[in-house]
Amino acid sequence: MNIVLMGVQGSGKGTQAEMLAEARGYEHINIGQLFRSEIAADSEIGRLAAIYINKGELVPDDVTYQVLDKDAPQGSRDMIFDGFPRSLPQAEYIYKHYKIKMIIILDLEIAESLRRITARRHCSNCGKGYNILFKKPAVEGVCDVCGGKLITRDDDKPKEVMRRIEIYKGQVKKLLSYFEGKVPVFHIDASAGIKEVFAEILNTVDGKPQAG
Ligand code: AMP
Repeated sequence: MNIVLMGVQGSGKGTQAEMLAEARGYEHINIGQLFRSEIAADSEIGRLAAIYINKGELVPDDVTYQVLDKDAPQGSRDMIFDGFPRSLPQAEYIYKHYKIKMIIILDLEIAESLRRITARRHCSNCGKGYNILFKKPAVEGVCDVCGGKLITRDDDKPKEVMRRIEIYKGQVKKLLSYFEGKVPVFHIDASAGIKEVFAEILNTVDGKPQAG
């Protein structure tokens, strides 16, 4: 059975998905990362996806399904979907093609979301991610692993982040009404620290959500 993890930009969704995958043996399916790998490989999918990602828009569904078919075939290991679904057709697609145990939503205020995301940096050489608030490199602006220059991804700049937040807010309501009565949905407050949020996610996944 698979889990869908949703969360506004900056809610720590990717980090939490990685930790959960490791702790409970899931495969972490990060759609944004799959697209970035395709872009790095300069594949046909990657070239198409880049047009939309660089504008802060969602990649068209047919391109997104191609990436999933390739990297997350149904019936393989149990998976955590991180960044999918983000549209009503995608919700229908995942419900039809994958068994979903639960949906976990990480909630965060918009101001905090902006503060956290605009602090993100990536190595221009190896792609390793940092955050100047939470996960600083040893030397400012320099990758710990390869010494590459740290940069801000175009879609992590304030204007693009606001667009992505607006897209997220608009879609999540539709997704929730689609999944209502089909799949259990759990909301978790993501404003706490990484460990606290993770403890609550584990409780939820293990069937022991905390009251409130
Ligand atoms: P992320 O790394 O999750 O912030 O995603 C980066 C970018 O990938 C987004 O801004 C979108 O352009 C694209 N993307 C991620 N997930 C999806 C999806 N489910 N459907 C379409 N595009 C997506």
